[in-house]
Amino acid sequence: MAAHEAKRTAKPRRVAKPKAAPRKPEESSSHDEHGHGSEVLQVRTAVATILHDNSDYMAQHKAAYFKTFADKQTPRATVVTCSDSRVQSEVMDKGAVNDLFMVRDIGNQLATAEGSVEYGVRHLHTPLLIFVGHAACGAIKAASADYSKLEPAIRKELATINIPQGIDPTDGALLNINNQVESAILKFSGEVEQGHLAVLGAFYDFRNDLHQGAGKLIITNLNGETAPARIRELMKQGQYFKYSFMP
Ligand SMILES: [Zn+2]
Repeated sequence: MAAHEAKRTAKPRRVAKPKAAPRKPEESSSHDEHGHGSEVLQVRTAVATILHDNSDYMAQHKAAYFKTFADKQTPRATVVTCSDSRVQSEVMDKGAVNDLFMVRDIGNQLATAEGSVEYGVRHLHTPLLIFVGHAACGAIKAASADYSKLEPAIRKELATINIPQGIDPTDGALLNINNQVESAILKFSGEVEQGHLAVLGAFYDFRNDLHQGAGKLIITNLNGETAPARIRELMKQGQYFKYSFMP
């Protein structure tokens, strides 16, 4: 399926299965160990889908829409999520365009994307910084086990996840979120003390590990506060710039 053909179809062809895809002799002989067809077919289908979805997006938005943010971005929040493909902005924002300054890395960390986070907070002046961890996080699992055999660059990005070896993955994810919030409060202490920045931690629970509903985004840290009842109280009162160390 060529990209221009895909564009004309009424509905996006979500990553066509290899059986439905056109076969060329050299492709049909490829071994399919993952059930996704040959890699070249996977790429062709993925690119076609991306271009198709983009043309749909263009069709849904007039030129005036793009003009509203063509020269300047004005996001309300800097959001640090894990790179995990299951964690996307639509989980928490129906209109994330020009609303969320998204920073992504493995393990939703400050340390491995510090400049990007700093740009959001200090140059785009988002008054809200959120670290979003998630269920079944591969980075957390890896960081809590022996990762000495992994590639150096990956090891480097796991080394800044400070969780105990062998910790339960959900507990590890929650602890990591708290660590990130704590690091951010230290780094942005000026903004925090002046009441210009709220730092939140959240857990995206697509596996319902915390029994609050599958897909729930649970605020697990508010400016360093981790007790659920206290977080609820602070949120109810709108106390987003209050830190426990403040008088
Ligand atoms: Zn992850």
